[in-house]
Amino acid sequence: LFCCTDATSNETPAKVIDGKSVARKIREEIAAEISRMKDAIGVVPGLAVILVGDRKDSATYVHNKKKACEDVGITSYEVRLPEESTEQEVLKFISDFNDDPLVHGILVQLPLPSHMNEQNILNAVSIEKDVDGFHPLNIGRLAMRGRDPIFVPCTPKGCIELLHRYGIDIKGKRAVVIGRSNIVGMPAALLLQREDATVSIVHSRTKNPEEITRKADIIISAVGQPNMVRGSWIKPGAVIIDVGINPIEDAKSPRGYRLVGDVCYKEACKVASAITPVPGGVGPMTIAMLLSNTLTSAKRLHNFV
Ligand code: NAP
Repeated sequence: LFCCTDATSNETPAKVIDGKSVARKIREEIAAEISRMKDAIGVVPGLAVILVGDRKDSATYVHNKKKACEDVGITSYEVRLPEESTEQEVLKFISDFNDDPLVHGILVQLPLPSHMNEQNILNAVSIEKDVDGFHPLNIGRLAMRGRDPIFVPCTPKGCIELLHRYGIDIKGKRAVVIGRSNIVGMPAALLLQREDATVSIVHSRTKNPEEITRKADIIISAVGQPNMVRGSWIKPGAVIIDVGINPIEDAKSPRGYRLVGDVCYKEACKVASAITPVPGGVGPMTIAMLLSNTLTSAKRLHNFV
């Protein structure tokens, strides 16, 4: 578990894929585009965020998203509902935001309280404003040849954007995605396939995950197990995108813990050709992609090119 030193160690032969600086650049591009749109047609993109319950981690994510919106000039509309709210109440807010011309994106922070039906709620978001890309119609279109989703989920989109911005070829490459969740693993695999990679998916029932992963030119890991992917799982020269964000005990840290990825960074950077650090890799890209989806939505709804 503790095989990795921290991600800022500089003895790494692998190139560090610096998501933090790429995300900063994307946010600057978005801010410039938003002011161009505002000057031209007087429209400011709006993002509605619905948070139900009082999970601390969810409140932090929502806070970070709001702050990121402010920084680029997106207006955010936040609704906070108590844990004991009903599904009907949440659906009413979604329906109002669906009809509100100032709102171009709607995000329901997950997970929802267990008494609510997540499917009903995600289905209620208009696909035209589904900036998280979780509506089944958007996911279905993502999976179909010849169809295009209106929005792609932010975390997997951020992974692919990093590969593009670092000039890493995807076409014809062998890719392995570890994890098959609806929000990361599954859409990441679909996106890689759309980019003409040959994709395998490894999950908790996979018998020989190490052997399969070692065949990959590109690995996207979204598991939630600290340091699971060891150096021996990696083909020399592979590119690694580590989505995992896992707290592990660390007495030296003032918080008593630190964050590590799914991939044993110290071992991986001796074998891989490029790797994302945790933190500072995929995390900042997720929010940048949410801002990008919100801007795209506003441009689309107002026919602004
Ligand atoms: P999740 O819903 O818990 O899914 C985890 C997936 O990993 C499942 O498909 C599971 O397989 C698979 N898995 C679990 N243990 C495994 C094992 N030992 N070997 C192989 N596969 C295994 O998690 P998630 O929401 O996708 O998130 C995954 C990680 O990414 C977490 O650390 C999360 O914090 C992080 N994350 C980061 C961002 C970001 O912005 N950077 C965004 C979202 C999530 P089964 O399907 O068989 O159960």
